[in-house]
Amino acid sequence: MPFSTPFAPTSQELGSCVECGLCLPACPTFRMTGLETASPRGRLTAMSAVLAGRPIDAAFEEMMNGCLQCKACETVCPAFVPFGRVMEGAKAEIAVARNSLPSRLRRLILGKGLASRSVVKLATAAAAVLQKTGTAFLIPKGLRPGFRGLRPLSIWSSSRVGQSSPPLGEDEASGRGTVGLLVGCVTDPWFGSVNEAATRLLNKAGYVVITPADQSCCGALAAHDGAAKDASRLAAQNAGAFEAMDTLVVTSAGCSAHMKQYGHWTEGGEYIAKKVHDITELVADAIGKGWLPTMAETLEPVAIQDPCHLRHAQRIVDEPRRVVQAAGFKPIEIDPVGTCCGAAGVYSVLQPESSNRLGVQKADQVRAAGPTTVASANPGCEMQLRQHLGEDYRIVHPIELYAEAIGILGRADQ
Ligand code: SF4
Ligand code: SF4
Repeated sequence: MPFSTPFAPTSQELGSCVECGLCLPACPTFRMTGLETASPRGRLTAMSAVLAGRPIDAAFEEMMNGCLQCKACETVCPAFVPFGRVMEGAKAEIAVARNSLPSRLRRLILGKGLASRSVVKLATAAAAVLQKTGTAFLIPKGLRPGFRGLRPLSIWSSSRVGQSSPPLGEDEASGRGTVGLLVGCVTDPWFGSVNEAATRLLNKAGYVVITPADQSCCGALAAHDGAAKDASRLAAQNAGAFEAMDTLVVTSAGCSAHMKQYGHWTEGGEYIAKKVHDITELVADAIGKGWLPTMAETLEPVAIQDPCHLRHAQRIVDEPRRVVQAAGFKPIEIDPVGTCCGAAGVYSVLQPESSNRLGVQKADQVRAAGPTTVASANPGCEMQLRQHLGEDYRIVHPIELYAEAIGILGRADQ
């Protein structure tokens, strides 16, 4: 069966590849295997073959599932091939053409389960009990590595949804506008202090922060795994929830990257996409304008890990470094090209061997650089780093480090 859904890669998108091969050295899966079929160019060629009428078979599915969707190929592509978009289209096609029971269940969890606060709350409570009782051996083997990367969870997790908080102190009347905060599906219960830091920092910078009650999961994981209809539905829901906001801020790099692509996912989605900012952008901007303070410099080093969805998908590189520096720390580079850490949404579950190799490589980069604190702006990367670095390392969002340094957040990640 060739392509059949409205999400399919188009001939225009695929035809924009000039087959130069410049993306090959940037691609982690090509570097690990040396195989053209595990490269961006090879994957595009396979998609073009399906577009020309070749059926979607097991080999095609395997090629596409091997991709991390890290977009490192987009960063170096001279022809601006929208690789992330076409890969999401290919995944939507695979979901229709090769609809096995395990993949259907997975998409049900990603497309519907994550969008349900009750389901996420229940799963969080169960995971917290396993953490507290030391019974992680009860969970399926494939989920155990990710489980090790979690922060300590609370059985009774609270939510920031449906709240509004005013500017703080002298900035109370500054009228810098209203920022809508996407709390995220798992960021809310699992990384609550990141959302707490974002709210307090934006309030201190003079913004009103609102978390609309009718928001939902951003849909990134659904989109990456081919649950395209669910991804469209979630994009439409969030577009409605945040329509009245001046600005929309997101604390997970994977989610902010996806929401900047809402134009592809829902009618009129460009309107919301233009308002989306990753939190590192807004905090760095507020520091630059003097709305937030800059602390005295220390020599304490902090390693910077660039999430692919910050560095490659949004081309945000300087902002996390500026935030860490303004917190008084010395940002330390670990990887000049930003190779994927191997977390990549559900990739660590689907492709554990490749994910593990990349996780070990990233942990080695951190160890070689020296610092025992790592700043990472994406929950999935944070979990992957913690899993591979162990308890002697602290992995934390750059804005948490900054909020702690200026005294508006206690240490909440451990
Ligand atoms: S995706 Fe871009 S960089 Fe890679 S082969 Fe095609 S045109 Fe060249
Ligand atoms: S998205 Fe990442 S893993 Fe996939 S082809 Fe591009 S560089 Fe390779």
